[in-house]
Amino acid sequence: MNKTVSVLGSTGSIGTQSLEVCEKHGFRIAGLSANSNTDLLEKQSRKFRPDYVCIYDDKKYTEMKQRLSDTSVKVLSGMDGLCEIASLSQNDILLNSVVGMVGLLPTFTAINSGKDIALANKETLVAGGEIVMSSAKAKGVTIYPVDSEHSAIFQCLQGSRREHLSKIILTASGGPFFKKSYEDLKKVTKADALKHPNWSMGNKITIDSATLMNKGLEFIEAKWLFDLTPEQIEIVVHRQSVVHSAVEYNDFSVIAQLGVPDMKIPIQYALLYPDRLECPTKRLSLTDYGTLTFEKPDYETFKCLSTAIKAIESGGAYPCLVNSANEEAVKFFLDDRIPFIEIGEIVSSVMENFAPAQISCYEDVVKADISAREYVRNIIEK
Ligand code: MG
Repeated sequence: MNKTVSVLGSTGSIGTQSLEVCEKHGFRIAGLSANSNTDLLEKQSRKFRPDYVCIYDDKKYTEMKQRLSDTSVKVLSGMDGLCEIASLSQNDILLNSVVGMVGLLPTFTAINSGKDIALANKETLVAGGEIVMSSAKAKGVTIYPVDSEHSAIFQCLQGSRREHLSKIILTASGGPFFKKSYEDLKKVTKADALKHPNWSMGNKITIDSATLMNKGLEFIEAKWLFDLTPEQIEIVVHRQSVVHSAVEYNDFSVIAQLGVPDMKIPIQYALLYPDRLECPTKRLSLTDYGTLTFEKPDYETFKCLSTAIKAIESGGAYPCLVNSANEEAVKFFLDDRIPFIEIGEIVSSVMENFAPAQISCYEDVVKADISAREYVRNIIEK
Protein backbone atom coordinates (compact mmCIF):
# COMPACT_ATOMS: atom_id res chain seq x y z
CA MET A 1 0.00 0.00 0.00
CA ASN A 2 1.41 3.33 -1.06
CA LYS A 3 0.50 6.02 1.44
CA THR A 4 2.32 9.05 2.76
CA VAL A 5 1.62 9.92 6.38
CA SER A 6 2.75 12.68 8.73
CA VAL A 7 2.53 12.07 12.46
CA LEU A 8 2.22 14.94 14.94
CA GLY A 9 3.14 13.82 18.44
CA SER A 10 5.22 10.94 17.09
CA THR A 11 7.17 10.31 20.31
CA GLY A 12 4.03 9.87 22.45
CA SER A 13 2.14 6.66 23.11
CA ILE A 14 -0.20 6.97 20.09
CA GLY A 15 2.62 8.36 17.94
CA THR A 16 5.01 5.46 18.49
CA GLN A 17 2.22 2.92 17.92
CA SER A 18 1.23 4.77 14.74
CA LEU A 19 4.78 4.48 13.43
CA GLU A 20 4.68 0.75 14.18
CA VAL A 21 1.56 0.48 12.03
CA CYS A 22 3.14 2.63 9.28
CA GLU A 23 6.26 0.46 9.32
CA LYS A 24 4.24 -2.76 9.14
CA HIS A 25 2.46 -1.54 5.99
CA GLY A 26 5.43 0.22 4.38
CA PHE A 27 3.99 3.73 4.51
CA ARG A 28 6.22 6.67 3.68
CA ILE A 29 6.60 9.26 6.44
CA ALA A 30 6.65 12.91 5.32
CA GLY A 31 6.77 14.67 8.69
CA LEU A 32 7.15 13.93 12.39
CA SER A 33 6.85 16.13 15.46
CA ALA A 34 7.62 15.91 19.17
CA ASN A 35 7.02 18.23 22.07
CA SER A 36 10.53 18.01 23.57
CA ASN A 37 11.85 14.44 23.25
CA THR A 38 14.83 15.13 20.95
CA ASP A 39 16.38 11.73 21.58
CA LEU A 40 13.44 9.69 20.31
CA LEU A 41 12.66 12.17 17.53
CA GLU A 42 16.21 11.76 16.27
CA LYS A 43 15.91 7.95 16.35
CA GLN A 44 12.60 8.09 14.50
CA SER A 45 14.04 10.52 11.94
CA ARG A 46 17.00 8.24 11.19
CA LYS A 47 14.69 5.27 10.83
CA PHE A 48 11.86 6.78 8.78
CA ARG A 49 13.74 9.55 6.93
CA PRO A 50 10.91 12.13 6.90
CA ASP A 51 11.26 15.33 4.85
CA TYR A 52 10.53 17.45 7.93
CA VAL A 53 10.57 17.15 11.70
CA CYS A 54 9.26 19.69 14.16
CA ILE A 55 10.41 20.06 17.75
CA TYR A 56 7.62 22.03 19.39
CA ASP A 57 9.78 23.36 22.24
CA ASP A 58 11.73 26.25 20.66
CA LYS A 59 14.51 25.89 23.21
CA LYS A 60 15.39 22.48 21.75
CA TYR A 61 15.52 23.67 18.13
CA THR A 62 19.30 24.21 17.94
CA GLU A 63 19.96 20.84 19.59
CA MET A 64 17.58 19.09 17.18
CA LYS A 65 19.20 20.73 14.17
CA GLN A 66 22.61 19.66 15.45
CA ARG A 67 21.45 16.07 15.97
CA LEU A 68 20.21 15.79 12.39
CA SER A 69 22.90 17.92 10.72
CA ASP A 70 24.30 14.92 8.82
CA THR A 71 20.87 14.10 7.31
CA SER A 72 18.64 15.77 4.73
CA VAL A 73 15.78 16.11 7.25
CA LYS A 74 14.62 19.71 7.60
CA VAL A 75 14.08 20.79 11.20
CA LEU A 76 11.22 23.10 12.21
CA SER A 77 9.95 24.27 15.58
CA GLY A 78 6.96 25.71 17.42
CA MET A 79 3.37 26.03 16.25
CA ASP A 80 4.51 27.22 12.79
CA GLY A 81 6.43 23.98 12.40
CA LEU A 82 3.44 21.84 13.44
CA CYS A 83 1.23 23.69 10.96
CA GLU A 84 3.78 23.35 8.16
CA ILE A 85 3.85 19.58 8.65
CA ALA A 86 0.04 19.48 8.92
CA SER A 87 -0.26 21.04 5.47
CA LEU A 88 2.55 19.27 3.55
CA SER A 89 1.40 18.67 -0.01
CA GLN A 90 2.84 15.14 0.07
CA ASN A 91 0.58 14.04 2.99
CA ASP A 92 -2.17 11.61 2.08
CA ILE A 93 -3.28 11.75 5.69
CA LEU A 94 -2.20 13.56 8.85
CA LEU A 95 -2.23 11.65 12.12
CA ASN A 96 -2.67 14.25 14.83
CA SER A 97 -1.80 12.83 18.24
CA VAL A 98 -0.47 15.87 20.04
CA VAL A 99 -1.76 16.28 23.60
CA GLY A 100 -4.16 19.07 24.50
CA MET A 101 -5.34 22.32 22.95
CA VAL A 102 -2.05 22.64 21.04
CA GLY A 103 -3.54 20.19 18.52
CA LEU A 104 -6.35 22.47 17.41
CA LEU A 105 -4.52 24.83 15.04
CA PRO A 106 -2.66 22.03 13.19
CA THR A 107 -6.05 20.32 12.69
CA PHE A 108 -7.48 23.52 11.19
CA THR A 109 -4.41 23.91 9.00
CA ALA A 110 -4.75 20.36 7.65
CA ILE A 111 -8.46 20.93 6.97
CA ASN A 112 -7.75 24.17 5.11
CA SER A 113 -5.14 22.35 3.01
CA GLY A 114 -7.76 19.72 2.14
CA LYS A 115 -5.89 16.91 3.94
CA ASP A 116 -7.71 14.00 5.58
CA ILE A 117 -7.00 13.59 9.28
CA ALA A 118 -6.67 10.58 11.56
CA LEU A 119 -7.59 12.35 14.76
CA ALA A 120 -6.24 11.26 18.14
CA ASN A 121 -6.29 14.76 19.63
CA LYS A 122 -9.72 14.81 21.30
CA GLU A 123 -9.35 18.42 22.47
CA THR A 124 -9.67 19.46 18.81
CA LEU A 125 -13.31 18.37 18.79
CA VAL A 126 -14.07 19.17 22.40
CA ALA A 127 -12.94 22.78 22.17
CA GLY A 128 -13.75 23.53 18.55
CA GLY A 129 -16.17 20.77 17.49
CA GLU A 130 -18.70 22.93 15.72
CA ILE A 131 -16.22 24.95 13.64
CA VAL A 132 -13.92 21.98 13.00
CA MET A 133 -16.74 19.79 11.67
CA SER A 134 -18.26 22.55 9.54
CA SER A 135 -14.93 23.53 7.97
CA ALA A 136 -14.07 19.86 7.33
CA LYS A 137 -17.41 19.49 5.57
CA ALA A 138 -16.86 22.65 3.53
CA LYS A 139 -13.39 21.46 2.43
CA GLY A 140 -14.46 17.85 1.75
CA VAL A 141 -12.02 16.59 4.40
CA THR A 142 -12.69 13.33 6.26
CA ILE A 143 -11.84 13.06 9.94
CA TYR A 144 -11.12 9.45 10.86
CA PRO A 145 -11.41 8.75 14.59
CA VAL A 146 -8.40 7.15 16.29
CA ASP A 147 -9.87 7.05 19.80
CA SER A 148 -10.79 3.38 20.34
CA GLU A 149 -14.42 4.09 21.26
CA HIS A 150 -15.01 6.37 18.28
CA SER A 151 -13.25 3.99 15.94
CA ALA A 152 -15.60 1.30 17.27
CA ILE A 153 -18.67 3.44 16.55
CA PHE A 154 -17.30 4.35 13.12
CA GLN A 155 -16.80 0.64 12.40
CA CYS A 156 -20.29 -0.26 13.66
CA LEU A 157 -21.76 2.36 11.31
CA GLN A 158 -20.19 0.84 8.19
CA GLY A 159 -22.74 -0.45 5.71
CA SER A 160 -25.65 1.13 7.55
CA ARG A 161 -27.90 4.08 6.83
CA ARG A 162 -27.35 7.04 9.10
CA GLU A 163 -31.08 7.66 9.54
CA HIS A 164 -31.41 4.17 11.05
CA LEU A 165 -29.13 4.99 13.99
CA SER A 166 -31.01 5.42 17.24
CA LYS A 167 -28.20 5.85 19.80
CA ILE A 168 -24.66 4.89 20.67
CA ILE A 169 -23.29 3.05 23.68
CA LEU A 170 -19.96 4.52 24.68
CA THR A 171 -18.03 2.08 26.85
CA ALA A 172 -15.75 3.22 29.68
CA SER A 173 -13.19 1.17 31.60
CA GLY A 174 -14.13 3.08 34.75
CA GLY A 175 -10.46 3.84 35.44
CA PRO A 176 -8.40 2.84 38.47
CA PHE A 177 -10.90 4.29 40.98
CA PHE A 178 -14.09 2.57 39.87
CA LYS A 179 -16.45 1.94 42.83
CA LYS A 180 -14.46 4.32 45.03
CA SER A 181 -16.43 6.84 47.10
CA TYR A 182 -15.85 10.58 47.22
CA GLU A 183 -14.18 10.05 50.63
CA ASP A 184 -11.85 7.39 49.14
CA LEU A 185 -10.88 9.76 46.32
CA LYS A 186 -9.65 12.30 48.86
CA LYS A 187 -6.84 9.92 49.76
CA VAL A 188 -5.57 8.80 46.34
CA THR A 189 -2.01 9.62 45.32
CA LYS A 190 -0.43 10.55 42.03
CA ALA A 191 1.04 7.05 41.70
CA ASP A 192 -2.44 5.51 42.21
CA ALA A 193 -3.90 7.83 39.57
CA LEU A 194 -1.19 7.02 37.03
CA LYS A 195 -1.96 3.28 37.17
CA HIS A 196 -4.52 2.37 34.52
CA PRO A 197 -6.00 -1.16 34.62
CA ASN A 198 -6.13 -1.84 30.84
CA TRP A 199 -4.50 0.78 28.65
CA SER A 200 -0.98 2.13 28.64
CA MET A 201 -1.16 5.83 27.76
CA GLY A 202 0.48 9.21 28.33
CA ASN A 203 0.18 10.97 31.71
CA LYS A 204 -2.51 13.51 30.78
CA ILE A 205 -4.95 10.94 29.43
CA THR A 206 -4.20 8.52 32.27
CA ILE A 207 -5.23 11.15 34.81
CA ASP A 208 -8.27 11.99 32.67
CA SER A 209 -9.17 8.28 32.79
CA ALA A 210 -8.89 8.29 36.58
CA THR A 211 -11.19 11.33 36.96
CA LEU A 212 -13.45 10.01 34.12
CA MET A 213 -12.89 13.36 32.38
CA ASN A 214 -11.60 11.28 29.50
CA LYS A 215 -15.07 9.74 29.05
CA GLY A 216 -16.62 13.19 29.32
CA LEU A 217 -14.33 14.46 26.56
CA GLU A 218 -15.17 11.39 24.48
CA PHE A 219 -18.89 12.04 24.99
CA ILE A 220 -18.39 15.50 23.45
CA GLU A 221 -16.11 14.10 20.74
CA ALA A 222 -18.80 11.53 19.79
CA LYS A 223 -21.47 14.20 19.62
CA TRP A 224 -19.49 16.12 16.98
CA LEU A 225 -18.04 13.19 15.03
CA PHE A 226 -21.37 11.43 14.58
CA ASP A 227 -23.74 14.40 14.73
CA LEU A 228 -25.65 13.15 17.79
CA THR A 229 -27.69 14.81 20.51
CA PRO A 230 -26.45 14.26 24.09
CA GLU A 231 -29.57 12.13 24.71
CA GLN A 232 -28.38 9.70 22.03
CA ILE A 233 -25.20 8.83 23.95
CA GLU A 234 -25.24 6.28 26.78
CA ILE A 235 -22.10 5.66 28.82
CA VAL A 236 -21.64 2.12 30.16
CA VAL A 237 -18.76 1.01 32.38
CA HIS A 238 -17.18 -2.11 30.96
CA ARG A 239 -14.14 -3.05 33.03
CA GLN A 240 -12.47 -5.41 30.55
CA SER A 241 -12.14 -2.92 27.64
CA VAL A 242 -12.99 -5.59 25.07
CA VAL A 243 -16.25 -4.12 23.74
CA HIS A 244 -14.95 -0.78 22.49
CA SER A 245 -18.42 0.73 21.95
CA ALA A 246 -21.69 -0.10 20.19
CA VAL A 247 -24.44 1.37 18.05
CA GLU A 248 -28.15 0.79 18.53
CA TYR A 249 -30.39 0.99 15.47
CA ASN A 250 -34.08 1.85 15.22
CA ASP A 251 -35.05 -1.83 15.34
CA PHE A 252 -33.11 -2.13 18.66
CA SER A 253 -30.48 -4.28 17.05
CA VAL A 254 -27.15 -3.41 18.68
CA ILE A 255 -23.85 -3.78 16.82
CA ALA A 256 -20.62 -3.65 18.81
CA GLN A 257 -16.93 -3.74 17.90
CA LEU A 258 -14.64 -5.96 19.96
CA GLY A 259 -10.90 -6.50 20.14
CA VAL A 260 -7.99 -6.66 22.55
CA PRO A 261 -7.31 -3.31 24.23
CA ASP A 262 -4.55 -2.19 21.85
CA MET A 263 -4.59 1.21 20.16
CA LYS A 264 -2.88 -0.17 17.08
CA ILE A 265 -6.22 -1.60 15.89
CA PRO A 266 -8.07 1.77 15.79
CA ILE A 267 -4.92 3.56 14.54
CA GLN A 268 -4.62 1.11 11.68
CA TYR A 269 -8.31 1.34 10.78
CA ALA A 270 -8.02 5.14 10.54
CA LEU A 271 -4.88 4.97 8.38
CA LEU A 272 -5.95 2.07 6.13
CA TYR A 273 -9.67 2.79 5.83
CA PRO A 274 -11.52 1.08 4.21
CA ASP A 275 -8.95 -1.72 3.99
CA ARG A 276 -8.38 -4.31 6.67
CA LEU A 277 -5.00 -6.02 6.86
CA GLU A 278 -3.29 -7.97 9.65
CA CYS A 279 -2.51 -5.65 12.57
CA PRO A 280 0.67 -5.91 14.66
CA THR A 281 -1.25 -6.96 17.79
CA LYS A 282 -2.79 -9.98 19.55
CA ARG A 283 -6.02 -11.62 18.41
CA LEU A 284 -8.99 -11.54 20.75
CA SER A 285 -9.84 -14.76 22.54
CA LEU A 286 -13.26 -14.35 24.14
CA THR A 287 -12.86 -17.55 26.13
CA ASP A 288 -9.68 -16.17 27.73
CA TYR A 289 -11.86 -13.40 29.13
CA GLY A 290 -14.82 -15.65 29.98
CA THR A 291 -16.89 -12.89 31.56
CA LEU A 292 -17.65 -9.40 30.29
CA THR A 293 -19.40 -6.99 32.67
CA PHE A 294 -21.44 -3.81 32.16
CA GLU A 295 -22.41 -1.27 34.81
CA LYS A 296 -23.63 2.30 35.25
CA PRO A 297 -21.09 5.08 35.88
CA ASP A 298 -21.14 7.04 39.15
CA TYR A 299 -21.88 10.60 38.02
CA GLU A 300 -22.04 11.96 41.58
CA THR A 301 -18.55 10.94 42.62
CA PHE A 302 -16.85 11.60 39.31
CA LYS A 303 -17.71 15.25 38.84
CA CYS A 304 -15.56 15.70 35.74
CA LEU A 305 -17.79 13.28 33.84
CA SER A 306 -21.07 14.93 34.80
CA THR A 307 -19.58 18.39 34.18
CA ALA A 308 -18.41 17.53 30.66
CA ILE A 309 -21.92 16.31 29.81
CA LYS A 310 -23.45 19.45 31.30
CA ALA A 311 -21.00 21.51 29.26
CA ILE A 312 -22.04 20.02 25.93
CA GLU A 313 -25.72 20.24 26.87
CA SER A 314 -25.22 23.95 27.59
CA GLY A 315 -23.14 24.34 24.41
CA GLY A 316 -21.29 27.44 23.22
CA ALA A 317 -17.94 27.96 24.91
CA TYR A 318 -18.64 25.65 27.87
CA PRO A 319 -16.99 22.50 26.47
CA CYS A 320 -13.87 24.52 25.63
CA LEU A 321 -13.82 26.21 29.05
CA VAL A 322 -14.27 22.92 30.89
CA ASN A 323 -11.58 21.22 28.79
CA SER A 324 -9.03 23.99 29.32
CA ALA A 325 -9.77 24.21 33.04
CA ASN A 326 -9.20 20.46 33.22
CA GLU A 327 -5.91 20.66 31.32
CA GLU A 328 -4.67 23.31 33.69
CA ALA A 329 -5.89 21.49 36.83
CA VAL A 330 -4.26 18.22 35.69
CA LYS A 331 -0.96 20.07 35.21
CA PHE A 332 -1.18 21.36 38.80
CA PHE A 333 -2.01 17.86 40.04
CA LEU A 334 0.94 16.32 38.19
CA ASP A 335 3.17 19.01 39.76
CA ASP A 336 1.90 17.95 43.22
CA ARG A 337 0.25 21.35 43.73
CA ILE A 338 -3.33 20.10 44.28
CA PRO A 339 -4.86 16.81 45.49
CA PHE A 340 -6.66 14.52 43.05
CA ILE A 341 -10.13 15.40 44.33
CA GLU A 342 -9.52 19.08 43.55
CA ILE A 343 -9.48 18.45 39.78
CA GLY A 344 -13.21 17.63 39.76
CA GLU A 345 -14.02 20.52 42.09
CA ILE A 346 -12.25 23.03 39.87
CA VAL A 347 -13.67 21.67 36.62
CA SER A 348 -17.24 21.60 37.92
CA SER A 349 -17.00 25.15 39.27
CA VAL A 350 -16.47 26.44 35.71
CA MET A 351 -20.16 25.94 34.91
CA GLU A 352 -21.27 28.41 37.60
CA ASN A 353 -18.51 30.95 37.12
CA PHE A 354 -18.64 31.64 33.39
CA ALA A 355 -21.45 33.33 31.49
CA PRO A 356 -22.59 31.65 28.26
CA ALA A 357 -20.53 32.63 25.20
CA GLN A 358 -20.54 31.60 21.56
CA ILE A 359 -17.77 29.93 19.58
CA SER A 360 -17.92 31.01 15.96
CA CYS A 361 -14.24 31.14 14.98
CA TYR A 362 -10.82 29.93 16.05
CA GLU A 363 -10.14 33.17 17.96
CA ASP A 364 -13.22 32.53 20.14
CA VAL A 365 -11.72 29.18 21.13
CA VAL A 366 -8.39 30.81 21.99
CA LYS A 367 -10.16 33.45 24.09
CA ALA A 368 -12.15 30.87 26.06
CA ASP A 369 -9.04 28.73 26.51
CA ILE A 370 -7.03 31.61 27.99
CA SER A 371 -9.80 32.73 30.33
CA ALA A 372 -10.36 29.21 31.70
CA ARG A 373 -6.64 28.73 32.38
CA GLU A 374 -6.42 32.10 34.12
CA TYR A 375 -9.47 31.16 36.19
CA VAL A 376 -7.77 27.95 37.39
CA ARG A 377 -4.44 29.64 38.12
CA ASN A 378 -6.27 32.27 40.17
CA ILE A 379 -7.98 29.61 42.29
CA ILE A 380 -4.77 27.69 42.96
CA GLU A 381 -2.28 30.51 43.31
CA LYS A 382 -4.40 32.86 45.37
MG1 MG B 1 -10.74 6.33 24.33
